[in-house]
Amino acid sequence: MGERLYRKNQPEKKKLLPHSYALSLKDKVVWGTWERSGKRVRDYNLYTGVLGTAYLLFKSYQVTRNEDDLKLCLEIVEACDVASRDSERVTFICGYAGVCALGAVAAKRFGDDQLRDHYLARFREIRLPSDLPYELLYGRAGYLWACLFLNKHIGSESVSSERMRSVVEEIFRAGRQLGNRGTCPLMYEWHGKRYWGAAHGLAGIMNVLMHMELEPDEIKDVKGTLSYMIQNRFPSGNYLSSEGSESDRLVHWCHGAPGVALTLVKAAQVFKTKEFVEAAMEAGEVVWNRGLLKRVGICHGISGNTYVFLSLYRLTGKPEYLYRAKAFASFLLDKSEKLISEGKMHRGDRPFSLFEGIGGMVYMFLDMNDPTQALFPGYEL
Ligand SMILES: [Zn+2]
Repeated sequence: MGERLYRKNQPEKKKLLPHSYALSLKDKVVWGTWERSGKRVRDYNLYTGVLGTAYLLFKSYQVTRNEDDLKLCLEIVEACDVASRDSERVTFICGYAGVCALGAVAAKRFGDDQLRDHYLARFREIRLPSDLPYELLYGRAGYLWACLFLNKHIGSESVSSERMRSVVEEIFRAGRQLGNRGTCPLMYEWHGKRYWGAAHGLAGIMNVLMHMELEPDEIKDVKGTLSYMIQNRFPSGNYLSSEGSESDRLVHWCHGAPGVALTLVKAAQVFKTKEFVEAAMEAGEVVWNRGLLKRVGICHGISGNTYVFLSLYRLTGKPEYLYRAKAFASFLLDKSEKLISEGKMHRGDRPFSLFEGIGGMVYMFLDMNDPTQALFPGYEL
């Protein structure tokens, strides 16, 4: 293959063309999640379902400006809109807040104001149940992420600041109840465990909170919680998957150093302290030294860990991080198909999905087109 994922010597302003292999894989994802099933939605969500394909198509449209991708994105979101009518899940990644938020943003890009307003109206109807957890995939943090996505892409008051503020206060109230002022100021439980990672735990919740306007005492608690995690990580530098865990095994976005690294990059940008810059870089070392995972996806696979280096590159501008991202991406490009067919790599439980399958890998390949703008889908904003 003559093309490269990243062409080093191109003039900066020239629009780079995406890798043709990435675009053909994108078509394969559309086939595997949408066309093959006769365009019926079995699973609507962004994580394992067909909304992930719509998100990938939106990314592809952003890179190529091919309107067919945007139209197909909207067609899939419309089917998800119908399929999620009885859903009680209210987050971006696993719930119908993701359907409404992506629908509104894609409709706006398409110039269809009526459709945009339809999705915005449905989003504003979302009511959070009182027993809703706090983490990112199913909880309040995941609802807030959808609000942030809308406000970034549609306009700052698409979701009112009062609405978001009340959810932020609920998150602090609950976190302080389980937290401890002297050690870890904020703590949460999900299914009886006190998780640390991005998907279900502290890293994911702190990441969302750092995008909000916070009071000084709230900022202190977020910083204190992150410092507690840094001070109590494993001797290897990896992060616990949950409070008290002694198993230094998982190095994933969902559990372990990669998800925490992305959160620490955000902390470094928001708080501008050396502590968080260094901790982010140290978490990146863990990801590099532990090496390649056996899966391709972004949740617990090589593509997700690639974003750690892209994020550190954005933070520090150090070329070694871009080199590392390219090394991981090139490995996937050259080897993943063969290793999966030989059974040496796992194709993921939902092999075409955005978070577990090749959907996320293709998303990352498209992001490699302009590494300075790469953002972990559903996590970095
Ligand atoms: Zn995972």
